[in-house]
Amino acid sequence: MNAPGAKILKGETGDWEIVIGMEVHAQVLSKSKLFSGASTQFGAEPNAQVSFVDAGMPGMLPVINAKCVEQAVRTGLGLKAKINLRSLFDRKNYFYPDLPQGYQISQFKDPIVGEGEVVIDLPSGESRVVGIERLHLEQDAGKSIHDQHPDHSYVDLNRSGIALMEIVTKPHMRSSEEAAAFLRKLRAIVRYLGTCDGNMDEGSMRADVNVSVCRVGGYDKFRADGSFKHLGTRCEIKNVNSMRFIAMAVEYEARRQVEILEGGGTISQETRLFDARLNETRSMRSKEEAHDYRYFPDPDLLPLELDAAWVAEIEKSLPELPDEKKARLIQAGLSAYDASVLVAEKESADYYEAMVKAGAEPKSAANWLSNEYFGRLNKAGLTLADGPVTAAANAAIVMMVGEGVISGKIAKDVLDLVWAEGGDPRALVEARGLRQVTDTGAIDAAIEAVIAANPDKVEEVKAKPKLAAWFVGQVMKQTGGKANPAAVNAALKTRLNLPDEG
Ligand code: ADP
Ligand code: MG
Repeated sequence: MNAPGAKILKGETGDWEIVIGMEVHAQVLSKSKLFSGASTQFGAEPNAQVSFVDAGMPGMLPVINAKCVEQAVRTGLGLKAKINLRSLFDRKNYFYPDLPQGYQISQFKDPIVGEGEVVIDLPSGESRVVGIERLHLEQDAGKSIHDQHPDHSYVDLNRSGIALMEIVTKPHMRSSEEAAAFLRKLRAIVRYLGTCDGNMDEGSMRADVNVSVCRVGGYDKFRADGSFKHLGTRCEIKNVNSMRFIAMAVEYEARRQVEILEGGGTISQETRLFDARLNETRSMRSKEEAHDYRYFPDPDLLPLELDAAWVAEIEKSLPELPDEKKARLIQAGLSAYDASVLVAEKESADYYEAMVKAGAEPKSAANWLSNEYFGRLNKAGLTLADGPVTAAANAAIVMMVGEGVISGKIAKDVLDLVWAEGGDPRALVEARGLRQVTDTGAIDAAIEAVIAANPDKVEEVKAKPKLAAWFVGQVMKQTGGKANPAAVNAALKTRLNLPDEG
């Protein structure tokens, strides 16, 4: 039957299912390029970071950058994938104005990383495994610029030769939600690993999305015997650069294919572009086959041979990744939902962990972040990095509540004060006299004042014990929110002679 997450498309002639596989280009975080010493820094003057190798000058020889190899291996290990100790670099031949060599150095038959997997977290709370086919290293091309002169195009080669990891999935995704969830998770993993900054706006992560449709049941047959004949013909949507656009492109493309098939047509395998403005995909070129590129091993480069001990060293240095962190947070008492929200971005996980390290109780810290601090950041349009309150300060507020120094209500005021004025929350609580009143004398006085002002309610509460909550509220108000609610409760019960259940 249909796996969880599979989405059915209703057609005129029956039901269809969507199958998606992705090729993600992730720019390797490294100071210099894959085969040259030129800088990879984003945003430099055009053509300021181009070595002779990157410009395709005759006679120049590529020299492999060990850092890029290490980053690819790290990523492979993070994808729980097989690391191939021997891999080859091939020339993929094609012409493009921003490809001065006339070929791209890539890896074809023998990539550095083989099969792996990524667990995706769906909005429903379910998880699914998406298989990784391979990861290979290749050079990025330069950039053609068409919008700076009415009848000229320019070429900027700064990007030429920067290392990319192409990460290819198996066709294991079943809906636009799963496709977006995959990219989100992959982005989180490479950011945890520190192998790619995941910055989609700057193009350091971009996805080619392959979409096909087939009759219901086709996918399960494919999973059963591995034969692609059970799947429909796919179209590849090039360079989609946001989660939202991926979802939109998949929806549109699947619908388009169903309409063609139901109209008696066939899908031709082609490369399409997604136009976010019109919310449609359109044909770019018919799909080229591997043999069109005349791949052959690059004679300037030796086979890449890795030392198993070196790979083991890298494996030992891997940080805790999102899935493991999530499991640990759940172990510490967090709900699965809170844990996934916190680990989804490395920044929020780090921030949370800093709060716990500073002494905040894990569950309270998670609640405080999701109920109070994240909400304030959202409202102000700020990211965690730009937020005005440090993890240590938020931890101090949460701890003061736990210690009974301030009430939960005052805690929110303290957060607002620290947000607006900065400073140490503990000092602020002392300076402004915000300490919670646990002194029974002061609480009793407040209770007497409330009773004196509402003699009618005193009679009512005997009949309606629920009214006690109203009294607590009034007493809290009377003390400016500083009374300890538990102490108020206890004192009220005695004074009004309420049963324990009340
Ligand atoms: P190429 O490199 O020519 O684009 P690949 O065979 O490497 O071709 O496949 C590229 C991507 O297309 C992979 O992510 C794969 O999972 C996906 N794919 C292959 N067949 C289908 C299909 N029928 N429907 C959806 N995706 C597919
Ligand atoms: Mg492709």
